[in-house]
Amino acid sequence: MADKINILLANPRGFCAGVDRAIQIVEEALMQYGKPIYVRHEVVHNQHVINDLKTKGAVFIEDLNDVPKGAHVIFSAHGISKAIREEAKLRELISIDATCPLVSKVHVEVNKMLNQNMDIIMIGHQDHPEVEGTMGQIEEHHTNRKMYLIETIEDVSSLVADHPDKLAYVTQTTLSMDDTRAMIDALKIKYPNIQGPKSDDICYATQNRQDAVKEITGLCDLIIIVGSHNSSNSNRLKELALREGVESYMIDHEDSLQPSWLLNKKNIGISAGASAPEISVKNILNKIEALTKATITELPGIKESIIFKLPKI
Ligand code: SF4
Repeated sequence: MADKINILLANPRGFCAGVDRAIQIVEEALMQYGKPIYVRHEVVHNQHVINDLKTKGAVFIEDLNDVPKGAHVIFSAHGISKAIREEAKLRELISIDATCPLVSKVHVEVNKMLNQNMDIIMIGHQDHPEVEGTMGQIEEHHTNRKMYLIETIEDVSSLVADHPDKLAYVTQTTLSMDDTRAMIDALKIKYPNIQGPKSDDICYATQNRQDAVKEITGLCDLIIIVGSHNSSNSNRLKELALREGVESYMIDHEDSLQPSWLLNKKNIGISAGASAPEISVKNILNKIEALTKATITELPGIKESIIFKLPKI
């Protein structure tokens, strides 16, 4: 190992306002109604958070049939389709919505565009719950309307839209800013009349964390991203570092850190996705410190002051 390792902590990193709010909603519901509280899907994509909430009495389910009639069910920060909302009503469940307000904003945009007889192209990742929720805003009464999902720039070329002059696009909130920009540019060339959202759908937290990692790529010979495998914005941070030519790994527990990664490294950057708690960063730092002589520098970065109010629980 190098004699002395410098650790650069990117800022901002870790929890965003939507994740904070979603966790608080589960904790508040447990306090008010006692356990168990059912949560549809992982409320945020982080194993540490999920394990902690499980020990407090949250029960995570994927299928609403697993929730007893009349029980409370919380919808995750990623948002839900209209069909799931309706199914919960039919099963007489008491719904509490932890959808991030920035995802709800995209749902409002989609509904507005559909009601203006536009077809919608969603840029996002298939099978991600946010995409299922946003694509699921279309309903039977939107006759002749369509939503298309595209994931890559190649999908733009192969897309055949039924109404090329009545198109709008939205994006998943946690994508790579660079990839998305390229896809939007390609869409605008192919469909010159396409309409976009008033303000970017990629959220402030995704943008700030990507900017902060970009800042350190030139300084580091290794970047470790703290985040769980299914966290979209954490994956994008690792991809960004790799794309800039920096060795990078994403882990959500100190036990996954391989001492061999640290061999001959001088400057190690560390960041965390929007769903990763600071305790996981601390535990990983402690492990690196135990293995090396490391000095830690907390880098300056944009201060985030966004807070989302809790819904009525
Ligand atoms: S990453 Fe963005 S959209 Fe997702 S919960 Fe956080 S603030 Fe909301």
